[in-house]
Amino acid sequence: MLPIPLVAGNWKMNTTISEARSLSASLIEELNGLSGTEVVLCPPFVSLEPVADILRGSSLKVGAQNMHYEDNGAYTGEVSPHMLLGLCQFVILGHSERRTLFGETDEIVNRKVQKAFQSGLNVILCVGEGFEARQDGTEEAVVSHSLFASLKGIPFSKELVVAYEPIWAIGTGLAATSNEAQKMIAFIRGLLHHMYGSLGSTSVPIVYGGSVSDSNITDFVSEPDIDGALVGGASLKVEQFAQIAKITARIRNSS
Ligand code: PEP
Repeated sequence: MLPIPLVAGNWKMNTTISEARSLSASLIEELNGLSGTEVVLCPPFVSLEPVADILRGSSLKVGAQNMHYEDNGAYTGEVSPHMLLGLCQFVILGHSERRTLFGETDEIVNRKVQKAFQSGLNVILCVGEGFEARQDGTEEAVVSHSLFASLKGIPFSKELVVAYEPIWAIGTGLAATSNEAQKMIAFIRGLLHHMYGSLGSTSVPIVYGGSVSDSNITDFVSEPDIDGALVGGASLKVEQFAQIAKITARIRNSS
């Protein structure tokens, strides 16, 4: 059994509300009803509601880019899982920009993942090694440590998606090769098997992220273990993102 593929667009801190409306409206035209892959748009918090309004009734889903692990309280500037319910079905957690720029540790990510599942949200959990780890050959150790710590004590959930995002490939235009991504994603699948048994290895989509474009997506999703992509820069371009999703669907429908 192959997991259902997923292509998610992480818009990061880009788009005004009106730009978010027009981007999502254009993407609906291109991708509504696409079979063979789940498509998720992750706009900034302020655009979750307008984008959710536009996507309502379509096959496209909405995701947040982060959340706090408490439902409310004195956490200035934060957004809680409770606030996200009804607005989105997915949340990206543990993105490397959150980890490196905002000090998120595996322990914080772990609390967030736990809370997201309790709240009924699907989690796109990001893990990936930095350039130095790749250079000195410790990338598997880094990724396994981060995956185990982020999921520590959390029972299997069918709401889990893992995104392998090597930090050196994010926003650099230097994507991993499909071989490198396949090797690490197969390794992650083995770790999920170790944690959750065959459910973990057969039903959790594991996607690749890091400078994905319409010209390299074919290589990634042709690999046996890569179930789609988490897309940053290219997700802001209608044609590129639509192509990435359509190619993923076509390749997975034919495999
Ligand atoms: C990301 O931020 O998750 C990402 C993969 O970015 P990019 O596609 O721009 O490398």
